[in-house]
Amino acid sequence: MLNRSRSDRDFAIRLMDHLVVPAFALGVDGRVIIWNRACERLTGLRASDVIGTKEHWRGFYDSPRPCLADLVLNGVSSERLYASLSPVDAIPSALTAENWCVMPRLETRRYLAIDAGPVYSKDGELLAVVETLRDVTPQHEAQLALKSLASLDGLTGLSNRRIFDERLEHECAEVMRGKPPVSLLMLDIDYFKAFNDFLGHQAGDDCLKLVARTIGGLHLRQTDLAARYGGEEFAIILPGSSLPGARLLAGQFRRAVEELAIGHPASPYGVVTLSVGIACTSELDIAEPAELVARADMALYRAKRAGRNRVIDLGGRGDRTSTPSAG
Ligand code: GH3
Ligand code: MG
Ligand code: MG
Repeated sequence: MLNRSRSDRDFAIRLMDHLVVPAFALGVDGRVIIWNRACERLTGLRASDVIGTKEHWRGFYDSPRPCLADLVLNGVSSERLYASLSPVDAIPSALTAENWCVMPRLETRRYLAIDAGPVYSKDGELLAVVETLRDVTPQHEAQLALKSLASLDGLTGLSNRRIFDERLEHECAEVMRGKPPVSLLMLDIDYFKAFNDFLGHQAGDDCLKLVARTIGGLHLRQTDLAARYGGEEFAIILPGSSLPGARLLAGQFRRAVEELAIGHPASPYGVVTLSVGIACTSELDIAEPAELVARADMALYRAKRAGRNRVIDLGGRGDRTSTPSAG
């Protein structure tokens, strides 16, 4: 009888050891009792270096932290440790998660899909926790690339209109919750129809790309968002920026595009220029995206009527214009 149970045990261990899926098991004291060959290949950490220790994190992370099996063992669920974490339907105490792991032994970051669940004796006593891992890095990267493609404008590489709308909605909601004001710049290329008519659509596309690169590369903070609003019109969301700050930045954009010195045979300025309209939530009673856009649009319209190649905001005390000579 004793021999039978020993051979059952050996069989179970061999089964787990040769499993194609990377897996390891912790005993109830939290020490590693199984670290299979696929797990050795995935992590570069040998079973002989980890079995009997609590150092399994070394396979995945470069500093001590709980793995999913530790959370199951200790009955805790700490969401801040994972990109996603949830219970497994129909298996009490089991958890499923996804995470970037740094894999220190192999020096290659991998995105792992991880499942961990308890193993009980016939009497319901906890014997171990088993964690299985799948390297889903290519799938995850493809998903990220798709998501990024779906949020960018195809011609200019700036954020598209959908992302702009979502961000403005979010930033306005933040202002309503008491965050500092948000400014919005609407920038429109002057006499662009004539540019196309004189130089051709391809030259127009090249010009749009160059202007977009200039706008996207200039003085923007990580929290700012530059988007192609449509056609030859761009929009920039500046969270936490007051009207004077937005004015300064708008002037820099206008100058930078003028200094590109893209020849424009049908413009009185001789080169491609921008008109800019500015609005700030501090000018509104409620931070409402549609109102903010309408106000920036109105300022842009005034900039066009005043001669183009200038920055205008409605700023409460009538128009404030920054003309080409004033900056
Ligand atoms: P304004 O100074 O008042 O802004 O005049 P405008 O000619 O720039 O403005 P209008 O709205 O009359 O014309 C915009 C032009 O932009 C017309 C359209 O052919 C051109 N355009 C819009 N999108 C693209 C694009 O993706 N590529 C090219 N090459 N041209 C575009
Ligand atoms: Mg235009
Ligand atoms: Mg336009």
